[in-house]
Amino acid sequence: MDEVEFDDVDVAVIGAGIAGVAVADAVERSGRSVRLFEARDRVGGRLLAHRHGEHRLDLGATWFWPNELRVQALAKRLDLRLHSQHLDGDALFHQPGAAQRIDGNPLDTPSGRFTDSAQDLVERLAGELAAGTLRLATPVRRIRTAADSGRLQVDHAYGTTTARHVALALPPALAVAAIDFEPGLPERLRGLAEITPVWMGAIAKVVAVYGTPFWRDEGLAGAAISHLGPMREIHDMSGPSGSPAALFGFAPTAAGEPAATADACLTQLVELFGHRAADPIDIVVHDWRAEEWTSPPGVEQLASYQTFGHPMYGDPALDGRLHWCSTETATEAPGHIEGALAAAERAVAAILSTTPPLAKEAR
Ligand SMILES: Cc1cc2nc3c(=O)[nH]c(=O)nc-3n(C[C@H](O)[C@H](O)[C@H](O)COP(=O)(O)OP(=O)(O)OC[C@H]3O[C@@H](n4cnc5c(N)ncnc54)[C@H](O)[C@@H]3O)c2cc1C
Repeated sequence: MDEVEFDDVDVAVIGAGIAGVAVADAVERSGRSVRLFEARDRVGGRLLAHRHGEHRLDLGATWFWPNELRVQALAKRLDLRLHSQHLDGDALFHQPGAAQRIDGNPLDTPSGRFTDSAQDLVERLAGELAAGTLRLATPVRRIRTAADSGRLQVDHAYGTTTARHVALALPPALAVAAIDFEPGLPERLRGLAEITPVWMGAIAKVVAVYGTPFWRDEGLAGAAISHLGPMREIHDMSGPSGSPAALFGFAPTAAGEPAATADACLTQLVELFGHRAADPIDIVVHDWRAEEWTSPPGVEQLASYQTFGHPMYGDPALDGRLHWCSTETATEAPGHIEGALAAAERAVAAILSTTPPLAKEAR
């Protein structure tokens, strides 16, 4: 696609993470026209898988929880393979040079997993969109209010799309850092977006794959907590019946610090789980702070989590045409996949309530 494009739709969605794909899916099913613009060359955003042989291992979200009914309904609709998080065994507490065994596993709660990775959830949903709806590798740089036209103008890498409604399906702090609004957003709204953290935006996720879940042989759950790092918490991320066998951890990243290195993480895994942890088949460190399309500069300084689900996010801006729908804007389960689906649902309800389907419109 290298020609300059101009088109006009009911709804332009910015960001093809699970929230944006859910909005595009619902709008399309309702009979309205929609374009979904995605900066990366893939869908999924913070749902990302690492391929290891025939398996796909989560580098972003891993779990969903029993009370998260939207995720479960979507997984059912898409006929996804699911399995339960491994819980059995003792957890570990990491202290200098050693590990202290904790009786039982207080670190994991019952949760569900996507057997073919969480990215599968969003890829399968995006696969149901009509041809031409999704525009990959198409970052949006500017949103303008077109005077008296009842439209917003979305300037993207390949042209301009005008739309009655725009759904911002990316973290608010990233939206205001990377997209120019003309005229500017109301000051209070911009201020709110600027301080809203990006959930997990300053975290490196580390995944180590092994031949077998050897820790289970010793009655360990694969779960650990550490104040020493580089990983602050570790969990079993194996597939059903322990295959593929994997451990993962979260390592916070701070400005100026490189992400946790694989070597430092392996040293920590050996201190916790013994010498069998020294030789993974594969180890991946994915630093979300370094992802231009997830985290704005300075993301590690954003700490006002009470801004999640703020009422201003539920009140469409720019004359009722601009809708926030990333997980950070949800009042239910903000930060989670469930939150992204809840925010998408709220935005879709607001959009559909003011936009007649194309077919019924007098043109
Ligand atoms: C390491 C990690 C672990 C996690 N663990 C869990 C978990 O176990 N369970 C759980 O429920 N949640 C978890 N989460 C959170 C979960 O991944 C998110 O809640 C969810 O994926 C957010 O979806 P979203 O659509 O709101 O945003 P995103 O997934 O961030 O999607 C935003 C999209 O917008 C695109 N974009 C950005 N800028 C532009 C632009 N200018 N133009 C066009 N497109 C743009 C991005 O490329 C991206 O695709 C985890 C996240 C991480 C990073």
